[in-house]
Amino acid sequence: METKVITITDKLDALALLPAAEVLQKGGLVAFPTETVYGLGANGLDTEAVKAIYAAKGRPSDNPLILHVADFAEIDKLAHDISDTARKIIAAFCPGPITIILNRNRIVPDAVTGGLNTVGIRMPNHEIARELIRLAGVPLAAPSANTSGRPSPTTAQAVLADLQGKIGAVVDNGSCKFGLESTIVDCTSAVPTVLRPGAITLEMLAAVVGEVKLDPALVGENSIPKAPGMKYTHYAPKAPMIMLEGAKGKMVAGLLTQIAKAKAEGKKIGAVVSSETAKELPADVAIAVYGSREKMSEIATNLYEALRKFDQTEVDVIFAEGTAEVGLGLAIMNRMHKASGYRIINL
Ligand code: AMP
Ligand code: MG
Repeated sequence: METKVITITDKLDALALLPAAEVLQKGGLVAFPTETVYGLGANGLDTEAVKAIYAAKGRPSDNPLILHVADFAEIDKLAHDISDTARKIIAAFCPGPITIILNRNRIVPDAVTGGLNTVGIRMPNHEIARELIRLAGVPLAAPSANTSGRPSPTTAQAVLADLQGKIGAVVDNGSCKFGLESTIVDCTSAVPTVLRPGAITLEMLAAVVGEVKLDPALVGENSIPKAPGMKYTHYAPKAPMIMLEGAKGKMVAGLLTQIAKAKAEGKKIGAVVSSETAKELPADVAIAVYGSREKMSEIATNLYEALRKFDQTEVDVIFAEGTAEVGLGLAIMNRMHKASGYRIINL
């Protein structure tokens, strides 16, 4: 299959999107930009189209998909018994980088929910994404547009690196603003529970609804995550990655020690680090800078491209600089821990 690349440089060009909408209406797959990462969309009410997403990504079938909508009225068609708390969260943060887990209506196919009685719904804060959904005329089931287990794509080039020839089209609108997947919040329980941290932080949710919980599986407690996808190793670069964590003052010395050890073993070394730390590392280390350690939003935006940099650079091991686990740092560290397969050195 030839993957059509539709480039949109303006904010919105509905005419240019028509061929993409046509692919979707025929049951095909279209990757499209959102404010978080690129999504791989299909008609979310068509079981066969939804199954094609799992096949293209190599995604386990028990890992449910998020339904993307363009308008508030769509939410009530897909879900029932929406609590007042859920409505408050929707009013405060939609459209935006948040997915709300609600009680699913019968119209939602089992293939979308992996058989769960709930459904994840998101309204992207991205005009092109919402226009594509409107043109398709149906909610779009859309996971991240990567091969399962790989870092999520934040550019159309990253989508093509994984999925060229496997999908009908990709809409290219440059880099994504936030760079990490949406916050997932389960609103089917009395107290809303964050199942996956993201750009809408715990602090932001608490400011709107008061009490918010964090899925115990996210804080290292030995329980099964409520978002099935969170149990898989994920976001991983091709070489093994080791995280270094601890006080900022110990980071450079810690990295230099690990680098010296790996060099003695004859390994080629990569490092995913802040711009501040990068300056202190030896010249023969392949470095991907994720931004300034003082700017969490910059790190979030650049993280996946930094991890993907090592697909082109031959390295045997990657050392990665951790950051504080507060605010947006919770989402960043959640993805980095998974990318490292929980290989962590505490400094
Ligand atoms: P992705 O779209 O690739 O970011 O993956 C979607 C994430 O949402 C996965 O971690 C899923 O397990 C999670 N998810 C989707 N639907 C549900 C649901 N009904 N309940 C809990 N988690 C869900
Ligand atoms: Mg994903």
